[in-house]
Amino acid sequence: MITFFRTKTDLRTYNSSKKMNLYILVIIGTTLLLSNCSSSSDNMESINNDPTPVNIVKTPPFHGTIFLDPDIVTSSDPSTFEKTSYVGQEIRTMFDRRVNDWVEENAFLFETVFSDGFIIEIQVNPEFQTKELAQIEAEKYGLEIGRLPHILKTSVETVWIHKGVQPFGGGNKNILIHTGQSIEYEKDGILEETLIHEASHTSLDETHARSNGWLSSQTSDGNYISTYARDNPVREDIAETFLVYLAVAYRSDKISESLKNTIETTVPNRIIYFKNQSFNVSPIE
Ligand SMILES: [Zn+2]
Repeated sequence: MITFFRTKTDLRTYNSSKKMNLYILVIIGTTLLLSNCSSSSDNMESINNDPTPVNIVKTPPFHGTIFLDPDIVTSSDPSTFEKTSYVGQEIRTMFDRRVNDWVEENAFLFETVFSDGFIIEIQVNPEFQTKELAQIEAEKYGLEIGRLPHILKTSVETVWIHKGVQPFGGGNKNILIHTGQSIEYEKDGILEETLIHEASHTSLDETHARSNGWLSSQTSDGNYISTYARDNPVREDIAETFLVYLAVAYRSDKISESLKNTIETTVPNRIIYFKNQSFNVSPIE
């Protein structure tokens, strides 16, 4: 199973803020409390095949981007979520970070429909005990996933929901959610930002992370937006940068001028790269 995971899938994480990952950065005179995203705690993240390009000599301004500003997307933003319908219990193979492995569960299944045409199967771990309690989770995260930009839903076919305080994940045509961790993200106001990061893995990495245009943008910028992206330039740079692209392109009124300037001066070519893709980001406008 682990070999399959390493070779066939691409699950990425941010670690819990409880996992020794609080850092204080002083950036342009502003102190920001950030939680680092580690890559060393599980099988998927332990292999780093991403050498840092030798021409990169500048220091990234941030450790990780999901912590930069909780207002990029919030629970007040519109959602394309329409409904989620219980369709029964069936065995599904899911990844569960609590055991750091694939598990087979008789999951509660919910067909979840979005007004922009997407239908996603939300698979809820039977540990939630009843279909009514599972449905509460499916509705909660269906609503949140409906806030994702259209482009980020294009490859999401399933969602796994487990209990536990474990990092979320993207890839596998899936978004992995641990509800205990979600509460931590919600306290910090970054549930939406985290889902954007993870769905960027699911829907953007395959096409863009190794594309010539992206690689040349990395070279032209000569820096990374975060140390997490710098240390994992193929695996994390798209996800780390797409969120800040959204912030400067669509939410510049919600972020500080200094944050906007830092983003625009650190990764200007990547911002142009994303703009040139003409992504559909509805319902974000
Ligand atoms: Zn990631």
